[in-house]
Amino acid sequence: MAPIAFDNSYARLPDRFFARLDPTPVAAPRLIRVNLALAEELGIDPALLTAGVLAGNAVPEGAAPLAQAYAGHQFGHFSPRLGDGRAILLGEVVGRDGLRRDIQLKGSGPTPFSRSGDGRAALGPVLREYIVSEAMAALGVPTTRSLGAALTGEHVMREVPLPGAVLARVAASHLRVGTFQYFAARGDLESVRLLVDHAVARHQPDAIDDPVPALALFRGVVARQAALVARWLGLGFIHGVMNTDNMTISGETIDYGPCAFMEAYDPAMVFSSIDHAGRYAYANQPRIAQWNLARLAEALLPLLAPQEQAAMDAAQEALAGFVPTFQREWLAVMRAKAGLAGAEEGDAALLQDLLGRMAENAADFTLTFRALATDPAAARPLFRDPTAFDAWAEAWGQRRARGALDPAAMRQANPAFIPRNHRVEEAIAAAVERDDFAPFETLLAVLARPQEDQPEHAAHALPAAPDQQVTQTFC
Ligand code: AMP
Ligand code: MG
Ligand code: MG
Repeated sequence: MAPIAFDNSYARLPDRFFARLDPTPVAAPRLIRVNLALAEELGIDPALLTAGVLAGNAVPEGAAPLAQAYAGHQFGHFSPRLGDGRAILLGEVVGRDGLRRDIQLKGSGPTPFSRSGDGRAALGPVLREYIVSEAMAALGVPTTRSLGAALTGEHVMREVPLPGAVLARVAASHLRVGTFQYFAARGDLESVRLLVDHAVARHQPDAIDDPVPALALFRGVVARQAALVARWLGLGFIHGVMNTDNMTISGETIDYGPCAFMEAYDPAMVFSSIDHAGRYAYANQPRIAQWNLARLAEALLPLLAPQEQAAMDAAQEALAGFVPTFQREWLAVMRAKAGLAGAEEGDAALLQDLLGRMAENAADFTLTFRALATDPAAARPLFRDPTAFDAWAEAWGQRRARGALDPAAMRQANPAFIPRNHRVEEAIAAAVERDDFAPFETLLAVLARPQEDQPEHAAHALPAAPDQQVTQTFC
């Protein structure tokens, strides 16, 4: 059996970028599941992904385990030292597609960055991240992936004792806005420079030839994040904790904590129990992304131009690019959802009109758009006042007469299945309370083909009944 072909570029950076340590072994590793398709993409023999490896008891040959250093703004407040408090980067592999990816164990024990935390993860959040990250990948959204998960055979103390688990997370990298902030806040410009080179090599090799690679990288992050948040909005996704340590340089969604998909459309929707001010509400996400990017610009500032004023101007100009890029990406996402071919001046207003009517009438976001793709008449009863939909549908029909996508393309843009919060909770409860992983497996199978009608799983397409509704999520 060929070992995992690790090539650990981050571990070759200077010591101040991380703390080297192994995962802490656990009492009784037990495999929950291995993502065979992803292992194949990465060129990893799945037989190597044993319970012992996934739980952190056995460190695979070629790994260079370490906890990464980073800082971050959490709900607007800066912490100069966060870092991997409960995760260990095992190393990097170059997949069959030629792309380099990190393999990280999350929930693998305390590290020098743990502060008061126990370094562990409970089974519920591990399953939630597994389900939602794999669903996002199937929906075509850039995201970290889940390579496998294992039970630890130990309990973690939360409000009550809960079964512990470890998630093997795969990412284009775990570089965050907060990674740059960590070194910038210490005035360690040399490290910021090294980090720029490392990030450019991994995520934007073209930028090496740019006269100012740090500026090219910053523009790239702006563009990737603008596109990412547009994709989130197009699915009704609320990340829930868009701190700068949870925003990647790669443009992948990371850290599925209190995230949720909205059902009835409401732009002010918040699920996270700790987001009292609605900072990370659905419709605030583009603004917050831009705020986080301003923090990245600050960290990169000395590298953007030799003179401070010129650097500020360059940062401002690149940051200002966020709004038009986001608007363009959002319009592309939403035009596809509404099946509009071509571009007309009035499209944004037409789409906003629909969203306004959906909000007033508590229409289910996913079902409404799926109905536009499959059977527009089925959208009517989703509106409290169905005539609110009729009035819009008339204008929509006139617009579509001048340019319409075919139904297959519309179905692709409008999934039938998203990870409905109550279904995720149901799968977690079965596993945690009854050691029953069948609902988790079923949910994964349904969400692997989200755009396909799966009549045998029709119930999974439905919103929560009033007594099933999830109104709050927890980290
Ligand atoms: P998050 O809210 O998941 O983005 O985590 C923010 C910070 O808290 C990161 O530095 C994490 O490593 C750390 N953290 C979260 N949970 C734990 C835990 N159970 N033990 C140690 N550190 C943790
Ligand atoms: Mg995090
Ligand atoms: Mg988290």
